Amino acid sequence: MTELGFSTRAVHAGFEPDPRTGAVNVPIYASSTFAQDGVGGLRDGYEYGRTGNPTRSVLEANLAALESGRHCRAFASGMAATDCALRAILRPGDHVVIPDDAYGGTFRLIDKVFSQWGVEHSPAHVFDVDAMRAAIRPNTKLLWIETPTNPLLSIGDIPALADIAHAAGAKLVVDNTFATPYLQQPLLLGADIVTHSTTKYLGGHSDVVGGALITDDADLDAAFGFLQNGAGAVPGPFDAYLTVRGTKTLALRMERHCDNAETIADYLTRHPAVSQVIYPGLPEHPGHVVADKQMRRFGGMISVRLHGGREAAHEFCSRTKIFTLAESLGGVESLIEHPGAMTHASTEGSVLEVPADLVRLSVGIEDVSDLLADVEKALGS
Ligand SMILES: *Cc1c(COP(=O)(O)O)cnc(C)c1O
Repeated sequence: MTELGFSTRAVHAGFEPDPRTGAVNVPIYASSTFAQDGVGGLRDGYEYGRTGNPTRSVLEANLAALESGRHCRAFASGMAATDCALRAILRPGDHVVIPDDAYGGTFRLIDKVFSQWGVEHSPAHVFDVDAMRAAIRPNTKLLWIETPTNPLLSIGDIPALADIAHAAGAKLVVDNTFATPYLQQPLLLGADIVTHSTTKYLGGHSDVVGGALITDDADLDAAFGFLQNGAGAVPGPFDAYLTVRGTKTLALRMERHCDNAETIADYLTRHPAVSQVIYPGLPEHPGHVVADKQMRRFGGMISVRLHGGREAAHEFCSRTKIFTLAESLGGVESLIEHPGAMTHASTEGSVLEVPADLVRLSVGIEDVSDLLADVEKALGS
């Protein structure tokens, strides 16, 4: 289906009207087991709900098509997908390079759990290809990147990082949660694996937690499938349904997220309470040129640093009315948070610690005039 346009794939890939009923949407197959026609006689390949479920299969086919990839495995959360990819590839004694501003949960899993099993890691600046290359060791099996990163919105050059990973005999994983396949398709840029928290833009309505791994490599997909079934961190059929319902409108939502974020980022650059606006769409962003090359637009996430440190950051977060103070991102509603005390509190005191005066905005699809007024009032102009 990759020859079709993005939104056509988003709406149609993975499902055709049900041949029996004509239902245009995939049924929620709430069944933990499937009847067999004689021992081993599976009707459509389904036997048990952890191993496979038709609603989940539709989600997986849809996400693979959106990332222009061949294979997808869906998981119960983004972290379950991350955990599966790490376990499928890394063995005791192996080494992984991660961004020094990686998603807090990813860093915590590698630093606190995988380290217990003899997996080593080195944080490096993802925007600095030479630093990423220098962090590679003879036992490096994986370059794990996000671009844009969370919450500092650093940009990694995907083709360049794929080259250095492959030259070292390692795989490149791209966490594409912030960009989404609408804005950026890492497999087409040389990455081996794309990972998602579908909880964010793909689901898009803050009503479901999920994750996914997409790859063109059949061996990797088989290893992911083995663990998906063997460890069992699978999404339920209703979760799969909600997520595939979300992806149908991804392109529309992303255009609006980008429109609104561009307007708000521009406004914030002129606000006296703001010391720095971090948004890849701004020409002064150090990753702007690379982002412009590999992304369609620049996304709905903005980080700002405020004069007045942690206190000013907390005040801003607690004063907005339309921007809801909450963790997570990528839903239709605008959210605001203080990474140092919320999503990234687990990185305090580590090399990954984020600045105390940093506030992260997930710009929703509301009317931008209302969002601007909300930010203006909360900052006190
Ligand atoms: C939220 C998030 C994750 C983790 O996903 P969950 O669905 O919360 O488990 C991983 N990476 C990034 C960039 C995220 O924003």
